[in-house]
Amino acid sequence: MRATYSLILTFLASFLLISPIFSQTAKKGPKIKTIIIDAGHGGTDQGARGQYSTEAQITLEVAKRLDTLLRQELPTTRIVMTRNIDIYHDVREKANIANRENGDLFICIHVNAAPYRNVIAGYKKVPYYVGKGKKRKKLYKNQPIYVKAQNPVHGTSTYIFAADRGDEKAEGVANDVRFESEAEVIDVPDPQSPEAIIKARLWTQKFFKNSVQLATMIENEFSSTGGKSLGVLQRNEKGIWVLQATNMPAVLIETGFITNKDEEDYLNSENGQKEMTRSIANAIITYKKQVDGPIQ
Ligand SMILES: [Zn+2]
Repeated sequence: MRATYSLILTFLASFLLISPIFSQTAKKGPKIKTIIIDAGHGGTDQGARGQYSTEAQITLEVAKRLDTLLRQELPTTRIVMTRNIDIYHDVREKANIANRENGDLFICIHVNAAPYRNVIAGYKKVPYYVGKGKKRKKLYKNQPIYVKAQNPVHGTSTYIFAADRGDEKAEGVANDVRFESEAEVIDVPDPQSPEAIIKARLWTQKFFKNSVQLATMIENEFSSTGGKSLGVLQRNEKGIWVLQATNMPAVLIETGFITNKDEEDYLNSENGQKEMTRSIANAIITYKKQVDGPIQ
């Protein structure tokens, strides 16, 4: 009997020792199996507006091109778009899609916008009076005439979420003002609520580092094509809530400023969209290689 027991124990012990290897073998394979592409805005929410196009149109076109390119170059990876038509989803729905589809990477495509500036177009003479009685004199002073002018701000930036400003701040990652329309984030839970802060901190612990890594690669790719990169930026406000609502590394790419005439033209051109898509795809492929090893 004793021999039988010890045999069973030996068997159990060896099974327990081996089992982690089994489970590791079962989990082997690429870590990045599914990539979610989110075309920002859509439908009733067209996002930022340029002179002739909207953010939602551009994000959909760029997202579709990215989808096609990644399918070609990463044939064994699942690519899922949150939308491939002009339809509105609130950000909760976008995050739900990403989580439901078991995404390993969440790529949000957006277009930035800068407010118009008041600039002096000229001056008009405005009369004013000095002195009293016979000494009263009419004089003129120059008053500036203001007109609304395009804001010259331009360039790309890639955002990541950080639970607290300053906390977990990565090298070279700055806090910055995000200009874009935040129409899509009205219903988002208050990011300052205790539950939201705890959830955001968990996301930061798990995915911040990888998100910074990917965001840096994306901005480097943009720079290498001669574009102006405003860098990798972090925020923790409503405009970026969707990133930490996903259970995966996530970045939000501002592909340029729709309020800048040259960038609006570039983002609407075939060449511009191809170049932009190529850069994003290159960064994703490089990132995937780093995480998964060479692509089979
Ligand atoms: Zn946007």
